[in-house]
Amino acid sequence: MNYKTISILGATGSIGHSTLDLIRRNPDMFKVTALTAHSSVKKLVALAKEFMPDFVAISDPSCFTALKDGLNGTGIKCGAGESALVDAAEIPSDMVMAAIVGAAGLMPTLAAARRGATIALANKECLVCAGDLMMEEVHKHHARILPVDSEHNAIFQVLETHAEKAIRRIVLTASGGPFLGLCQSRFNAITPAEAVAHPNWDMGAKISVDSATMMNKGLEVIEAFHLFPIEATQIDVLVHPQSVIHSMVDYVDGSTLAQLGSPDMRIPIASCLAWPERMPTPATPLDLAQIGTLTFEQPDYEKFRCLKLARDALLTGGAAPAVLNAANEVAVEAFLKENINFDAIPAVVEQTLAKSDMKAPQSLANVFEIDQEARRTAQALIVSMNDME
Ligand code: NDP
Ligand code: MG
Repeated sequence: MNYKTISILGATGSIGHSTLDLIRRNPDMFKVTALTAHSSVKKLVALAKEFMPDFVAISDPSCFTALKDGLNGTGIKCGAGESALVDAAEIPSDMVMAAIVGAAGLMPTLAAARRGATIALANKECLVCAGDLMMEEVHKHHARILPVDSEHNAIFQVLETHAEKAIRRIVLTASGGPFLGLCQSRFNAITPAEAVAHPNWDMGAKISVDSATMMNKGLEVIEAFHLFPIEATQIDVLVHPQSVIHSMVDYVDGSTLAQLGSPDMRIPIASCLAWPERMPTPATPLDLAQIGTLTFEQPDYEKFRCLKLARDALLTGGAAPAVLNAANEVAVEAFLKENINFDAIPAVVEQTLAKSDMKAPQSLANVFEIDQEARRTAQALIVSMNDME
């Protein structure tokens, strides 16, 4: 029995799909323990029948009957609601893939940390809204985080073999998203379909919009601050449209170390799944001669205001990152439903921050209160914006 057992939270999403693709290709290496989804019940049932986990959870309670009926005769246990996600995370397994989108991933990821699990962490929002408290729990319960986000995975790979203490700065590379070259005056006409069509990466809708506003890079700056032993001022962002260099570490002696690879999330996911070993993936090997040119530029903080707002939120500290995250989730959802324009996303986030109390959360219950309050403020702002039109 030389396989790893793994629970996949957010199994029906883009990261879940890539994770299961790797597991499917390496059936002797892994055994799936639990799978979760929000409301994609048919997809979840099909995955459960294929991978035969012990437990399956769906967070939308209205999908429970369909899930139960779908699993009838398989012997697989199932549950519904937010508590079932926590149950899925608590079942003993060697590794938890935390791939739920948004702050909804916080409680189950925390449950995994509290049982001392090895967590392959894709869900960046949980570190953004509760980074200090989450990392405290990780250390207290001797859990381990393996970063899935390609930039953080790149830094993790560099730091694994090189001195952590001599870091001068960390450089997070950013593709710049689909609107890097678009004039800002045209941002108000961007449609959801245009925003989710990322030039290099194939991802879920929310993170694709975050990449288009560059909020994604801002969230990643906050994520990096919690994951690595550095100050906020030691994290830089560099636009690199080809997405070949996934991030870099500058050392005090003038050396810069980087991780490179094709823009395929199966590479960082495989690095976490097989850690501390390596496993093969079907990703296209990097052909630098074919690519020819790698380019770099400074980010435009005026044009991509979300990136600036996120950097500022990290420097402000306290409740600011949690408020920023909640307001952004609300604004992105409103944009995807065509209730607000693309260029209203930073406006909603900025105004929500201006109206919110910045007092640091003292407990996780406090994080949820801050999150809920910021969501209400952002919703009210969107209503008043639409009334003014
Ligand atoms: P997707 O939208 O593709 O998938 C999200 C998953 O979470 C689905 O399984 C979905 O279930 C589930 N889910 C959605 N809402 C809830 C909820 N309220 N409660 C519980 N589960 C929920 O997202 P991605 O896979 O793209 O991203 C997942 C996370 O990974 C995000 O935090 C993202 O920032 C991060 N990430 C993603 C990358 C990528 O390439 N996709 C790269 C780096 C980080 P259902 O299908 O039923 O809705
Ligand atoms: Mg990333």
